[in-house]
Order: sequence, then C-alpha cells, then structure tokens
Amino acid sequence: MSDRRPAEPTVTEPKAPQGVLFIVSAPSGAGKTSLVKALLERDAMLHLAVSCTTRAPRRGEVDGVHYHFIDEPEFLRRIAADAFIEHAEVFGNRYGTTAAAVHEVLGRGDDLLLEIDWQGARQVRARWPGAVGIFILPPSLAVLEERLRGRGQDEDAVIAGRMARARDELSHYGEYDYLVVNDDFEQAVATLAALVIAERHRREPQEVRLSGLLGELASTAPD
Ligand code: GDP
Ligand code: ADP
Ligand code: 5GP
Repeated sequence: MSDRRPAEPTVTEPKAPQGVLFIVSAPSGAGKTSLVKALLERDAMLHLAVSCTTRAPRRGEVDGVHYHFIDEPEFLRRIAADAFIEHAEVFGNRYGTTAAAVHEVLGRGDDLLLEIDWQGARQVRARWPGAVGIFILPPSLAVLEERLRGRGQDEDAVIAGRMARARDELSHYGEYDYLVVNDDFEQAVATLAALVIAERHRREPQEVRLSGLLGELASTAPD
C-alpha cells in the first residue's frame, strides 16, 4: 500500500488559530474546582467556561462567575434552541456548556477548560476529537468524604448522594488522557500546569501559531 501523506510538513497554509480544549472531570469533592481556580490564576491564556445550572447557588457563589443559575423552563428553552454543546443531569440538577462560550475563546486562539462530568465529556469529545481529558482522583474514598464534609456546603443526605455517585464517576477514568491524584494540592496544581503547557506545544497547533517563524527559518536555511 502506498503512503499518500506529504513527506514535508505544510508550513505554508496556516489555518485559523485554535486553542486547546481541556475537559476536567472528577467525583464531587475531589478538588477540581479548587485546582482549576488555582490553575487559572497562574495561566492568563487559559479560560474557564461558565456552565449553566438549575442547582441553587451555594453560599458565596456568584451568578455569572461560578455558574449561570437558571431555572428548569429556561434550561429547556436553551436545549430546544440548541444553545448547549453538551448538557447532562447530575444529582437531579441540570448542567450545560453553551456553544457560544466555547467558540469565542478557542476561535481567538486561547485555551478553554470545561469542568464537566463524564456524560458531558463524552458529548464534547464526539464534537472535538482533539479535546484533552484530565481526570482528578482523590487519594482515597475516605479522604473524598472528608473533603465533602469539610467543605461544609452540603447537607448529610446530599453528601451521601455525592459519595454514592463518586464510584460511578470514578469508573469512567479510562475515557481520559491524563490522571492526576489530588493529594498534595500544590503538587497537583503544578502537574496540571505542566500538562496544559505540554499540550499547547504539540506540533500541529504550533505549526499554525509559528507559521511566520517556520516560514522564515525555512527560507533562510543554507542550501
Ligand atoms: P461539585 O463538583 O461538588 O463542586 O458540585 P457542582 O454542583 O458544582 O457540580 C456537580 C457535577 O456537575 C460535577 O460532576 C461537575 O463536573 C458537573 N458539571 C458542572 N458543570 C457542568 C456542565 O456544564 N456540564 C456537565 N455535563 N456537567 C457539569
Ligand atoms: P470539587 O469541585 O471537585 O467538588 P472542591 O474544589 O470544592 O471539589 O474541593 C472539595 C473540598 O476539598 C474543598 O473544601 C477544598 O478546599 C478541599 N481540597 C481540595 N483539594 C485539597 C487538597 N489537595 N488537600 C486538602 N483539601 C483539599
Ligand atoms: P467555592 O465553590 O465555594 O468557591 O469553593 C468550594 C470550596 O473550595 C470552599 O471550601 C473553598 O474554601 C475552597 N477553595 C476555594 N479556593 C481554594 C483554593 O485555591 N485552594 C484550596 N485548597 N481550597 C479552595
């Protein structure tokens, strides 16, 4: 069989810049919200998509910052209008990522992080095969429960429900590219930052970003 791929990389046809789409999932309480917040503070090129949810805001959560808090009829209207690239029901509440947010950030060449569950991750991967999946693991189930209690935001019954669902969420780690254990917080943030930087330097997106430099280097190379 003949190989029809061109032998040389095509540096002459730059495509539109396209950022990297990261998906971060974890069982509730594993620390993804805290880790992602710390990661965003370190990296100005990385943005977080603010999801829509029908869940009630927790203490300290701000509409439009942590989530867009909307009611069930409004959520259903947005599904009908095809406003979501993915949506899922988690703990009896609906969560969804709007298409507008994703296209705007990736289109200008910045990277976007989605903090979504495994059901949503599957839907996103189907649309963006290049999306990079990162799964956060707790050091143990006992520590996971401790963190849910320590957060002090949820009732006992809610915590029991989240622990029950944690096993289900954990069973999907095999669908992700990277596994990061959130034991030492600073170490986990450093690992996430390293993954983001490594993914950003993959050859294909780099060829687009660096098309000017690559063209110049190719034209001035000695014979
Ligand atoms: P927490 O993860 O314990 O802080 O609780 P949340 O109520 O913030 O989130 C509950 C679950 O919903 C988590 O598994 C999130 O990853 C997931 N989730 C949040 N936003 C979205 C979204 O836009 N789409 C999907 N599919 N899942 C989401
Ligand atoms: P998630 O978004 O995955 O539900 P959170 O970010 O809300 O998790 O974290 C759950 C609780 O665990 C929070 O109280 C947070 O401060 C704490 N936490 C997160 N990471 C660590 C860690 N590495 N060590 C100790 N506590 C942590
Ligand atoms: P919230 O959703 O209320 O902003 O945060 C959830 C929990 O994570 C809270 O208990 C909050 O104190 C904690 N948290 C928020 N940011 C950080 C952080 O940068 N590091 C750690 N370790 N915990 C954080």
